[in-house]
Amino acid sequence: MVTSVLLQSSKLSSYSRQCLKAVSQRRTFTSQLTEQQQAVQELARNFAQEHLKPNAAKYDKEGRFPFDSIKGLTDLGLMGACVDESYNGMGLDYLSLALAVEEVSRGCASTGMILSIHNFLYANLVNEKGSPEQKEVFLKNFTKGSLGCFALSEPGAGTDVAGIRTTARLEGDHWVLNGKKSWVTTAIEGSAIVVFATVDPELKHKGIACFLVPIETEGVFRGKKEPIMSVSMSLRAATACNVTLEEVRIPRHYMVGDVGDGFLIAMGQLDQGRIGIAAHAVGIAQSALDTAINYAKERVAFGKSLTRLASVKDRLTDMCILVETARLATYRAATDVTVKNSAMAKYIAGRNAVAVADHCVQILGGRGLSVDYDAERHYRDARGTQIYGGVTDIQKRLVGHYLLKEHDAL
Ligand SMILES: Cc1cc2nc3c(=O)[nH]c(=O)nc-3n(C[C@H](O)[C@H](O)[C@H](O)COP(=O)(O)OP(=O)(O)OC[C@H]3O[C@@H](n4cnc5c(N)ncnc54)[C@H](O)[C@@H]3O)c2cc1C
Repeated sequence: MVTSVLLQSSKLSSYSRQCLKAVSQRRTFTSQLTEQQQAVQELARNFAQEHLKPNAAKYDKEGRFPFDSIKGLTDLGLMGACVDESYNGMGLDYLSLALAVEEVSRGCASTGMILSIHNFLYANLVNEKGSPEQKEVFLKNFTKGSLGCFALSEPGAGTDVAGIRTTARLEGDHWVLNGKKSWVTTAIEGSAIVVFATVDPELKHKGIACFLVPIETEGVFRGKKEPIMSVSMSLRAATACNVTLEEVRIPRHYMVGDVGDGFLIAMGQLDQGRIGIAAHAVGIAQSALDTAINYAKERVAFGKSLTRLASVKDRLTDMCILVETARLATYRAATDVTVKNSAMAKYIAGRNAVAVADHCVQILGGRGLSVDYDAERHYRDARGTQIYGGVTDIQKRLVGHYLLKEHDAL
């Protein structure tokens, strides 16, 4: 409002006018949450603190998939947070979902990751890009308990998405898929997968298409049931596995969009997915800060509580600043979804979570390394947020690319 009045003033130079216009276009973020967003935040926080936090360490140690937690999130409506109400969803905005992911991850990082992938990478994709027929099959039940997965990574292609080798060929009214996907989160427990495949690897990104595949389809082989515990240092209560596709025949109309749209669909979804992983990282970092403060208040050294030692106070202060800056970047990305904002949020949140978890380990001293305390789990979980959903290194490159593009300096 003020900006638009100012813009009309004839006293402004054209340079000032240009600057103000840029401000009015870009300043869409406000840290003020709406009543609805606050309600979602409170709902998720109460659920996570009451039902997830008490079991997080146990499930992590046992590598036990949190079925009961997912059932609870389904009952709250959060497994279809942004899905249209006509498909049994809650029709919420991305920031509400990010707030839920943050609070759930604060209670249990593994559950937060599952919530994030199911919503940001599966349900939102079908909701926003699927046809009405696809939504009937691949969305309606996925807000009520069925889990959806996202299969982009392959043994030979992670960051290099255009290098995927899974193939799709059209035979009459069916697509036939062949290839191998890796690290597919919840493929063991899930009911459908978004699969990215190419009609011709030589076409690189222009040959990629996106398919919806019911997991029970003949020819879909999931790697042996292994909790992430046996394959990864992070998120040990979740699961991921290889998925092999051998002559998998799916109806022609299970393709989302057209041949050649797959690359942009994947990239667009990863922009959203990064907001989810950033929120997840903020939740882990907040939990590490909670752990450190609670411990420092109780632990006595040199006749006083740790919180009264200057170096510990400094560490707690650094942790608070790191959590808050990551949170602001994440909320901003969730309200103004651009490649740059979501890459920046994931970069900051992942990096800060690792730094916060590191301070947490240090404040707990020897106990920081013990499996009987939460600090080492936070440290392991935080580290993963710099890898999945796109490695930190590429996030930085994306931010640099779009920064220079905005300034016509590429
Ligand atoms: C717990 C877990 C769950 C996962 N879940 C899923 C899932 O559900 N679905 C899915 O599709 N994938 C999933 N992944 C895979 C994940 O997204 C990939 O591991 C990630 O994208 C990195 O790919 P990569 O492991 O092949 O590493 P690479 O691409 O081989 O990269 C290795 C390293 O090389 C460097 N590097 C590579 N390319 C560049 C570049 N262009 N610029 C700068 N540096 C670069 C970076 O340092 C990077 O860390 C999961 C992974 C984990 C660990």
